Amino acid sequence: MTDPSSQWIVSDLGRQMLADGLTKGTGGNISVKTDDGNVAISPSGMAYDEIEPDDVPIVDLDGTQLSGDRKPSSEFRMHTDILRERDDVGAVVHNHSPFASTFASIGEPVGPSHYLIAFIGDEIPVAPYETYGTAELAEVALETLGEEYNACLLENHGVLATGATAEAAYEVALMVEYCARIHYYALSIGEPSLLDEREIDTLLERFANYGQTQSADDAGSEPAAAADLSADRLAELQPNREAVSEFGRKMLHQGLTEGTGGNISSQNGDLVAISPSGMPYDEIDAEDVSVVDLNGDHVAGKRKPSSEFRMHTDILREREDVGAVVHNHSPYASAFASLNEPVEASHYLIAFAGDQIPVAPYETYGTAELAEVALDTLGAEYNACLLENHGVLATGATVSEAFEVALMVEYCARIHYQARNIGEPNLLDDTEIDTLLERFADYGQDH
Ligand code: 13P
Ligand code: ZN
Repeated sequence: MTDPSSQWIVSDLGRQMLADGLTKGTGGNISVKTDDGNVAISPSGMAYDEIEPDDVPIVDLDGTQLSGDRKPSSEFRMHTDILRERDDVGAVVHNHSPFASTFASIGEPVGPSHYLIAFIGDEIPVAPYETYGTAELAEVALETLGEEYNACLLENHGVLATGATAEAAYEVALMVEYCARIHYYALSIGEPSLLDEREIDTLLERFANYGQTQSADDAGSEPAAAADLSADRLAELQPNREAVSEFGRKMLHQGLTEGTGGNISSQNGDLVAISPSGMPYDEIDAEDVSVVDLNGDHVAGKRKPSSEFRMHTDILREREDVGAVVHNHSPYASAFASLNEPVEASHYLIAFAGDQIPVAPYETYGTAELAEVALDTLGAEYNACLLENHGVLATGATVSEAFEVALMVEYCARIHYQARNIGEPNLLDDTEIDTLLERFADYGQDH
């Protein structure tokens, strides 16, 4: 008897895929290996919000139906061929997500203009066109994935993503669409700067250790240094930890980041509350927020601190006016980061960041080198900068202020992108920016 949890997962992820805009109508399909080596696969042509676990048929690795009243997905061969041939794959997600499908329709791979491409490989390759639901499509898909890619495009059709677990395959599908989106924006106004294979190899190694080792329910244990922290001092940090948790959720729901990308910190004297590494924002409660000192040493909280802790603590240590840092991968700003071009002053709200939003040169995520170029690029005068092939860094006196700066960065990037797409934006000059900076100092309510 097959454990029904795989059918639950297929049913849940189908709904998630629709909610996240990764597919339309009944397009796409999902499969998960069962504990007894068979495959739970979404039923053919059924609306995702109507698929209950009982509607999910079970097939064997040759595609023969073993149980269930519903007909399995028309693409069952593509799923079973991959699950049979790739030992490292435990789940397959196929969808028609719009930016990735655009590259599929021009038959071109998505190039490595954003570091998150390493979730997939050194690019997102394209399998040549074959009719949907055929053995030929299954064959070209498997060939294109080979041993080294976790995803590929299907020409004139869509996306195929794989992972060891259903959650991992789904995350890969999200990253495919994200990387395609950034690459699309960048290509439509310029020439993206591309990461080389050596850097992709470095990223693949780092990704192997990314995130929490514990599950959401098992947070692990407090670091040894926590014993030196008084209960009163810990209580003082509670509002900082709450702000990090609250604004993490906002960052996700306001479209400023994707997956577990990005991180937030909030300073309280010589200590810093910082988001945990690689944890979904909706699951981060105040007690999951880590506490580090200004050297980046983990002093409290059971979760591993963000991989970018150095970027946060270096800025908080060096910039006296900054009490909070927000890092994210917001899409329009990240497109400029992938072009290695600053966002110029085509909208007056740029003054939230400075006279432009400059770009820090590429360094691998989570390194001391990235922290250094970020701090250098901000200097004393910018409240925000871009990180080449990566994303955004925004600062403020409080988390709420840094978040506002991050929102303005994405807004200005979007306007500048759209303006560039239809013409040549008019830019504000330095004198006007100075005037704006002065006015902003008195802007809003006093209380
Ligand atoms: P963390 O999940 O470790 O915070 O990293 C996310 C990120 O955006 C790295 O740059
Ligand atoms: Zn990042």
